[in-house]
Amino acid sequence: MTKYDLGIIGAGPGGYTAALAAAEQGKNVVLFEKENIGGVCLNKGCIPTKSILHSSELYKKLQNAQDFGINVTGAEVDFQKVIERKNKNIETLRKGIELALKNAKVTTIAKEAKILTPTTIEAAGEIYQADKIICAAGSSPRNLKGLEFDHKFILSSDDILNLDKLPKRILIVGSGAIGLEWARIFSNFGVEVTLTELAPNLLPLADIEVSKRVERCFKKEKIKFYTGTSVIRVEDCKVTLSNNEILMPEKILVAAGRVSNCGKKIDGITYIGDAAGEIQLAHYAVKQAYNVCAGIDYCKNLIPSVIYGTPEIAWAGMREQDLEAGTYQKSVQLVSALGKAWCDGETEGFIKILSQNDKIIGVHIVCTEASSLLTAMLFAMQNNITVDALKQVCFAHPTYSEGLFEALLKLK
Ligand SMILES: Cc1cc2nc3c(=O)[nH]c(=O)nc-3n(C[C@H](O)[C@H](O)[C@H](O)COP(=O)(O)OP(=O)(O)OC[C@H]3O[C@@H](n4cnc5c(N)ncnc54)[C@H](O)[C@@H]3O)c2cc1C
Repeated sequence: MTKYDLGIIGAGPGGYTAALAAAEQGKNVVLFEKENIGGVCLNKGCIPTKSILHSSELYKKLQNAQDFGINVTGAEVDFQKVIERKNKNIETLRKGIELALKNAKVTTIAKEAKILTPTTIEAAGEIYQADKIICAAGSSPRNLKGLEFDHKFILSSDDILNLDKLPKRILIVGSGAIGLEWARIFSNFGVEVTLTELAPNLLPLADIEVSKRVERCFKKEKIKFYTGTSVIRVEDCKVTLSNNEILMPEKILVAAGRVSNCGKKIDGITYIGDAAGEIQLAHYAVKQAYNVCAGIDYCKNLIPSVIYGTPEIAWAGMREQDLEAGTYQKSVQLVSALGKAWCDGETEGFIKILSQNDKIIGVHIVCTEASSLLTAMLFAMQNNITVDALKQVCFAHPTYSEGLFEALLKLK
């Protein structure tokens, strides 16, 4: 029996990053994966959805190309090709991770593993010893009572990736990141989308002004949504909502959160990523993996959230509804005031900055390139750079980043 310095369960972004970081430190690492290297992020999450989203956005852009002086006729969705492209992206990226693990001499075991003790793992009847064990086993889609996945009509975010054709009408339950992105994907492809959300606003984890702007965008896009509403009954294909609305969708996507795969936690095991059950984002799993290997702490407050599509939505730090009136400053810059936005025909949205004692405490952006704009602000927040100092930065013209500059200038 080989003894390892580190045993890791799960080869998603948390697990494979920890494996590579520990191997880089000269550790002898064994990594267990029961499905595919890359985890949910690469195989069923971030990469497949963003690949399909990109195809859908391109299709939508072509529909509106005449607004830009380009006449396009005959643009059609070849959904099989959309899926093939998505699969190719996954395969290419997976090969890259597999090669990196091989080059780093990480022992990869393609089997389901079970943690027996804080230093023992069992997989397919074999026992592996490790000085330390990291559980990065990820998460699975949450089943809702009365809306249990049947994988045919009531689908999870895993099932939705296996559709062989687009439905005509879809009901999406839950308006977090996954629900919103799929609403955008289907709507871009011309599917009739209805979204239900139990909370009073869409995207309930966002700053309230972001939620309201998203609602406005969805109305404009003719994506139907009901907030403060739940599904009461599903009989055959007839869905009754708590507001008495009756819907006849072809499919239902339930996107109501995810549950950790690790069950009861064992003392002495380090849990990272989705398995830890805190912030379920790939970049948080990666951050935790690096920091656990380096033995340093991280600031959870500065973990960015991004919803992809047009316009992008991104935020980090404090939300306005969580702050006490009079204790902070707020500045909002409309995207429609930016030259670049008019050049691109992407004028929807705003950039909102919250500050306290000359420091940025929250940034909330609805704008094309919002994720990149947010990253710039994260550098400032992470390093406690003052608003005054940021006002000295020269922002290129014409860019969306000028919106950051304008918002900063409005802060005293
Ligand atoms: C549709 C969708 C879209 C998403 N989009 C984004 C996005 O845009 N940005 C973002 O940051 N996050 C996104 N996420 C979330 C992101 O995918 C997760 O936060 C991320 O994958 C978590 O990484 P992880 O390493 O913790 O776990 P995972 O990626 O879930 O990997 C865990 C791995 O462990 C394996 N495993 C589990 N149990 C065992 C066992 N007993 N033995 C061996 N192997 C085991 C699993 O097979 C899996 O491969 C999305 C998720 C979904 C579902």
